[in-house]
Amino acid sequence: MNKTKTLKFDTNWSYSPAPESIDYIELKDRYGLFIDGNFTSSKGGNYFDTINPANEEKLSEVSEANEKDVDKAVQAARQAYEKVWSKMKPSERGKYIFRIARIIQEQAREFAVIESLDGGKPIRESRDIDIPLAAAHFFYYAGWADKLDYAFPGRSTKSLGVAGQIIPWNFPLLMAAWKIAPALAAGNTVVLKPAETTPLTALKLAEVIREADVPPGVVNIITGGGETGKMLVKHPDVNKVAFTGSTEVGKFIMKTLAGSGKRYTLELGGKAANIIFEDAAINQAVEGIVDAIFFNQGHVCCAGSRLYVQESVAKEVISKLKDRMNTLVIGDPLDKNTDIGAINSRMQLEKICKYVDIGKKEGGSIYQPSCTLPEKGFWYVPTLFADVSQSHRIVQEEIFGPVLAIQTFRTVDEVISKANNTPYGLSGGVWTDKGSKLFKVTKEIRAGVIWANTFNKFDPGSPFGGYKESGIGREGGVEGLHSYVELV
Ligand code: NAP
Ligand code: MG
Repeated sequence: MNKTKTLKFDTNWSYSPAPESIDYIELKDRYGLFIDGNFTSSKGGNYFDTINPANEEKLSEVSEANEKDVDKAVQAARQAYEKVWSKMKPSERGKYIFRIARIIQEQAREFAVIESLDGGKPIRESRDIDIPLAAAHFFYYAGWADKLDYAFPGRSTKSLGVAGQIIPWNFPLLMAAWKIAPALAAGNTVVLKPAETTPLTALKLAEVIREADVPPGVVNIITGGGETGKMLVKHPDVNKVAFTGSTEVGKFIMKTLAGSGKRYTLELGGKAANIIFEDAAINQAVEGIVDAIFFNQGHVCCAGSRLYVQESVAKEVISKLKDRMNTLVIGDPLDKNTDIGAINSRMQLEKICKYVDIGKKEGGSIYQPSCTLPEKGFWYVPTLFADVSQSHRIVQEEIFGPVLAIQTFRTVDEVISKANNTPYGLSGGVWTDKGSKLFKVTKEIRAGVIWANTFNKFDPGSPFGGYKESGIGREGGVEGLHSYVELV
């Protein structure tokens, strides 16, 4: 297969190219829907392309599920739930989930390459973060399958039934794992819809599920756009909706489900504050800022897109940050040297450009390192805005790109009130040498996860989720299991 070309970039640093091989990747020209253990074509017969955002070349085409397909998938999940999965011994369920985890590990290289091809993220991230964490989630929840009584002492659990699950494009396989693993461990069956721009690793996961001999209908994977997602949410035989995506669609789902009795969890947008105190280890903090906002092109719900630096060290931090931005390697997602890959889609690139224009019009001072971007594909340079204030739109609204808004502060109370001043509450970061400050700030910031002297660290045992408009419910850990059971 030769569907990508190595891209050339002018950066201040030059490394010899180290592209990951794609010769052994087998992608089909066309994928059907994975329903009841088989790949079938959609009832409507429509297909759409999924492309490589680094060069805009078509990778494959996938089916667009219509209402009849969604119904067929939900019915398959219902049958599998009633007849097989809910009746199976929990220890047996656990074995299937372990098997999925092990096969993902065996095929980790293929998964990582396909993730980077389809979504544009650097291979280093898909190889070292997305895929190992996805396998880790299946391992973690496999272990819970026969220990549910210990997860909720003194209570017994009842599975919910069929879960309709909808995921975004920024961590495609990982989000699928976050959704499928706890649902299966708790005895539910699922219908999962991946995002339109990144369906390929979910479809490869369907192949893994078949290889693991998971009974037909326990996991169904249907591709399509927002309309397909809507149909899944509305289907009367879905008992629980698990959604990860934008706050806007999350609100729509909440309204749609009101009064239906269906359970739901919503993992939505964010606008995380990363706070640097004058007593922090500055070099370490600068590396943390880079990780927090430029990692995965800023396509991270918990990205540290707002930076608050204590006034006395602001000059030093900003100067070191600019130096570091100049050394970031933007380019071929499949090259192991790449720090910043391709923007996921043209639509997302346009959104980033729109917000950067707004930032300039609002009076922010922009800094972007100089580099030449290729003509084909979707790219954006890491961008920093200083001289902004709390009321600016680029400080309040989620951009979901590599754009950082910097403000300074003088006191702990001031920065806590600024950090809390957005509609979101998903994550945050604090950098200081003083434990007392860490405890005060982490306690008073209204966010689901706050990292101290680090950023973007994940573990299947830790719950994740938002306050305010960042969502409802938790995924990961025992809390994530709780989202898929009724306690009786
Ligand atoms: P999105 O537009 O909300 O889409 C998310 C998923 O929902 C996609 O599969 C999408 O399908 C589908 N969808 C769209 N409209 C729908 C509708 N009316 N009903 C049901 N499903 C619908 O979000 P996105 O732009 O893909 O993803 C970025 C957002 O996700 C950001 O806001 C980010 O913060 C958030 N996110 C949150 C977390 C978290 O854990 N809190 C994690 C990752 C991402 P199509 O893609 O095919 O249109
Ligand atoms: Mg794609």
